[in-house]
Amino acid sequence: MEYEMVIGMEIHVELGTKTKIFCSCPTKFGQEENTHTCPVCLGMPGVLPVLNEKVVEYATRAGLALNCEIAHFSKMDRKNYFYPDLPKAYQTSQFDLPICTGGVVEIEVDGVKKDIGITRIHIEEDAGKLLHESADGTLVDVNRCGVPLVEIVTEPDLRSAEEARTFAEKVRNIMEYTGVSDCKMQEGSMRFDVNISMREKGVTVLGTRTEMKNLNSFRALIRAVQYESKRQIIELKKGHEIVQETRKWDDTKGVSSSLRSKEEAQDYRYFPEPDLVPIVIEKEYIEKIKRELPELPEAKKQRYIDEYKLPEYDAGVLTATGVTARFFEEAVLLYDEPKQISNWIMVEIPPLLKEKEITMENIPIAPVQLAELLKLVKENVINGTSGKEVLKEMFNTGKNPGEIVKEKGLAQMSDTAELEAIIEKIVADNPKSVEDIGTGNEKAYGFLTGKVMKETKGKANPQVANKIIREVVAKHLG
Ligand code: ADP
Ligand code: MG
Ligand code: ZN
Repeated sequence: MEYEMVIGMEIHVELGTKTKIFCSCPTKFGQEENTHTCPVCLGMPGVLPVLNEKVVEYATRAGLALNCEIAHFSKMDRKNYFYPDLPKAYQTSQFDLPICTGGVVEIEVDGVKKDIGITRIHIEEDAGKLLHESADGTLVDVNRCGVPLVEIVTEPDLRSAEEARTFAEKVRNIMEYTGVSDCKMQEGSMRFDVNISMREKGVTVLGTRTEMKNLNSFRALIRAVQYESKRQIIELKKGHEIVQETRKWDDTKGVSSSLRSKEEAQDYRYFPEPDLVPIVIEKEYIEKIKRELPELPEAKKQRYIDEYKLPEYDAGVLTATGVTARFFEEAVLLYDEPKQISNWIMVEIPPLLKEKEITMENIPIAPVQLAELLKLVKENVINGTSGKEVLKEMFNTGKNPGEIVKEKGLAQMSDTAELEAIIEKIVADNPKSVEDIGTGNEKAYGFLTGKVMKETKGKANPQVANKIIREVVAKHLG
């Protein structure tokens, strides 16, 4: 029997507002535990939350970027549950009237394009964080309580781990572009829940699903989907039924295990948040946010192909994150050779980032420095090989390329007299090569060029050197 995988995702995205969703505590990541709290985000009796307007703006922006309808009227609800990271004992979220509905995101996997439906996007607050590694047992840090989130819920439209990853990457990309979140997965700014079920190929009803929560990397997402789908197939083949449950993904061990039976909406005893007024959004407001949306990844990619005449592959790589696209665009403004800049960003820069274990986000060189470096190569001040050396040095020292070229004496020998003298000597010392050339063996030129490069420590301009070698050899052959 052949099975088909069905996946629906819920993606939590922390919004990049300065302050929390209902109070003025800062949202800054990585601060001392339990210092960014107040009676409101701790849910003390008698406090009154006030909705942060920026949250509505960011959620609207996110919704428009994912092609959703923005609700004229939506409201906040209380989702009640007890857990140590939630001192309020309820999460203020949205239940039946979310702020965005009915969106769509197009993905492409193996050359096939496909629309993934967005069921809804709602606004909610994040919970605190449990620190299990402590010697004192489990501790709680409530700094994250009340950090604003949007939860993006998809239709069960995804059919493979690859589709799930492609979709998740695309959403991350769009969220980063719109500036609603830094999308730093390692800081938990973006987390995925995956719902997976299997069904016989050709059957239209959905099978029973399990859910894995809080996957915090694309790698974990893929592995969790692969593992869980295999596990379900094995169960089904044994004739067992799949139990609807929440499972925990252990990324170190690479296995999932049962956490708890799936809770239903009724378990949460949702009710409208009595301390907050509904959110009413006028058409003009939505239009304004729409006008202010930045160029999104897809449009940017197409523009790179049309305007900069870049291959589709380059355009895809450069627009894969907003940071890379901005870096590229700034460099092109200063040095109008898009393909060359693209090559250096795609080929030369990644290994240097990898070596330092950083990403484009904290690249230690500025676009203007790359532009300057490429100009030096273009103008034959240095050759390509030295260019790579200079780039590495720029990464390590932050110095400007001109400075490094001077310090390291990397400038190419453009003094032809000096080069001529060197070549004269090399040609005189290698009569065998001259003889070979005389009998039609052109390869001997390569040998002589190699000698010149060695003698000049790679600083000879290859074109100039070549020309002189030919002249000198011709003279010797008389
Ligand atoms: P809940 O709110 O209980 O988590 P929802 O019905 O809102 O449940 O669905 C949550 C996610 O699970 C959505 O992304 C949805 O597409 C997905 N989903 C629902 N049923 C299935 C199923 N049978 N197989 C795979 N995914 C599913
Ligand atoms: Mg769910
Ligand atoms: Zn607070």
